[in-house]
Amino acid sequence: MWQYKVLVTGFFHADGGAMFGAIPKKAWSRKYPADEENCCILAMNCLLVWNEEKIILLDTGVGTKGFEKLSYYRFYDTRDIAGLVRESGFEPEQVTDVILSHLHFDHCGGCTYFDKAGNLKVTFPNAKHWVGQRQWDNYLHPNGLEKDSFRPADMWPVAEAGLLQLAEFNYFELAEGFQLFLYKGHTTGQLVTVFDSDEGNCIFAGDVIPTKAHLSDDWISAYDTHPLNSLAAKIRLKKKMRENRARLFFYHDTYCQSMKYPSK
Ligand SMILES: [Zn+2]
Repeated sequence: MWQYKVLVTGFFHADGGAMFGAIPKKAWSRKYPADEENCCILAMNCLLVWNEEKIILLDTGVGTKGFEKLSYYRFYDTRDIAGLVRESGFEPEQVTDVILSHLHFDHCGGCTYFDKAGNLKVTFPNAKHWVGQRQWDNYLHPNGLEKDSFRPADMWPVAEAGLLQLAEFNYFELAEGFQLFLYKGHTTGQLVTVFDSDEGNCIFAGDVIPTKAHLSDDWISAYDTHPLNSLAAKIRLKKKMRENRARLFFYHDTYCQSMKYPSK
């Protein structure tokens, strides 16, 4: 059985209209609050999962670098993921695997950091970093809509250190009771993680379903590059949640970190 802990790595502001696409504000604002500038506060809720053999991190937050180019998002209360791992009783060097749902800066920024001498370093130097092959292709050759979401400094040092593990499978058992699945949707080649804990099955879905408000099939963010893929991915994920009676984790939800199925 696996143990887990949510590591909240910080918050930022995102336009509510962009977050909920074609859904009218009258409807979405009942399920997710917005401020006077129509901005929603989004969290970056990473997950630390471990057993006797492996210490695994699911996504790494925005990290500690490059905020000058991200001022639009007004990040606040950001935490160094290595520090949060230490507070949880582990050293960053002990982390065996980092699973990146996808490579947008708010999910993989914590993979690298600048040390005091100004050198760019890998945060988890002994970890295999799992990335969907198609997501990696997208990172190397981004489309026009996603190019600003990918930052070379987040993943190049990981690749250069030989720590990248590209996933081409649709399903992979990383360890007993711990599986990875490929999903389309918000972006191509996303990794969804499913694992067994003492209290049942758990699903970490990255941005396939980013907040509890996005559980409705057609509540799809305008950031999603292929909305029909998003729709199909959500239906597939909710089926898995139902079948497994799983707990689903919401990476971006400031108000609800996870929900066990079924729930009102
Ligand atoms: Zn995101």
